[in-house]
Amino acid sequence: SKYTKDDIIRIVSEEDVKFIRLQFVDILGTLKNVAITDEQLERALNDEILIDGSSIEGFARMEESDMYLRPDLDTFEIFPWRPHQGKVARMICDIYHLDGKPFQGDPRYVLKKVISEAADMGYNFNMGPEFEFFLFHMDENGEPTTITHDNAGYFDLGPIDLGENVRRDIVLTLEEMGFDIQTSHHEVAPGQHEIDFKYSDALTSADNIVTFKLVVKVIARKHGLHATFMPKPIEGVSGSGMHSNLLMYDRQGNNIFYDPDDELQLSKEAYYFIGGLLRHAKALTAVTNPTVNSYKRLVSGFEAPVRIGWSTINASPFIRVPSVRKKDPIIELRSPDPSCNPYLAIAAMLKAGLDGIKRKIDPPKMMEKKELKSALHTLDVESVIPSSLKEALIELSKDEVIKEALGDVYRRYTKAKSMEWDEYISVVHPWEVKKYIARY
Ligand code: GLU
Ligand code: MG
Ligand code: MG
Repeated sequence: SKYTKDDIIRIVSEEDVKFIRLQFVDILGTLKNVAITDEQLERALNDEILIDGSSIEGFARMEESDMYLRPDLDTFEIFPWRPHQGKVARMICDIYHLDGKPFQGDPRYVLKKVISEAADMGYNFNMGPEFEFFLFHMDENGEPTTITHDNAGYFDLGPIDLGENVRRDIVLTLEEMGFDIQTSHHEVAPGQHEIDFKYSDALTSADNIVTFKLVVKVIARKHGLHATFMPKPIEGVSGSGMHSNLLMYDRQGNNIFYDPDDELQLSKEAYYFIGGLLRHAKALTAVTNPTVNSYKRLVSGFEAPVRIGWSTINASPFIRVPSVRKKDPIIELRSPDPSCNPYLAIAAMLKAGLDGIKRKIDPPKMMEKKELKSALHTLDVESVIPSSLKEALIELSKDEVIKEALGDVYRRYTKAKSMEWDEYISVVHPWEVKKYIARY
């Protein structure tokens, strides 16, 4: 690993770090933290900081239960936007019971478990996200609106793209924190942006994703804007996806998805991995698209996937295999959105792919462009992505493989999400009133 305890103690003193935030995520993927001062650092490094474990439930407090935070030293990072004297740093933590056993309700534990399953098969799974998000004005009370700050579109340049300065600041901050930013640009909808960073091993990637979201929100705020990762904040324009680029290496560092002799230069493992993702697509959706709003993005006409299939062309398939990658092929899963808990989502993707490899699941044949584009109002439920959170949760309840990936979190997660659905379904929405009030 990168750092030892002594390294951390030395850096904290050399860099004049005063506060250290011990971060962890709840089951919904919300970043939480406990701040300690440098004086308590030793205790933190000896795993002596306690939290109330019920804060990880994400929805309701069960009985109080003390748990230890165990900082992952390699995640030590200084927040560049905080004061330069008496700096603020963070470490992401694993959560442990008092008896020293890992807490199975910790999303980071869920991911680590599937990663070790892959490692047992000789694989090192990597993931790189493409993040889309909106920047909105805030009202006089500091509450976010859905009023965009610009009218620009895809790849537009300044001065029309007012987000340019915000994006620039975000990218520079992320780079200071060790991110390798691949591209950043204005997206299709007004106020919509995309930033992509380089793939890394699955755990680092999930850690990066929660850090990324924090940085985007903090820097946008500095510019007086609100950044949102809500999947579909405005009807009638594109939503925000978190396309996930998946790569798999063997112990020697070779991409196991590559086979020079295949027509698409894909190996058997790559086809099986795709087969597994497609086989578990519906259950997967409950994890990669976890909000009521997620399903308003997954409709046709906005470059978001609707049907469960794969393709090499960029026509919004569920899975796309870009053909330009030569010796380092990736599988791009296009359904996830940025409201997902990255630890659970990556765990579920990996589990689905591994199942494909284990059970040698051949994918169906590639979808044609017109199949991919075909309308949503089909009752051919076999080949369409679940159309609601409820439907996805039902699919998840039937999928033993994805349930196994979630382990202990499954029960807590579906409880939280079912409550969310019940709350939504009991509300009468403006669309319904407009549609029915005069007619009936
Ligand atoms: N915004 C689209 C989505 O919801 C993706 C657009 C793109 O291909 O970059 O997934
Ligand atoms: Mg995009
Ligand atoms: Mg993409």
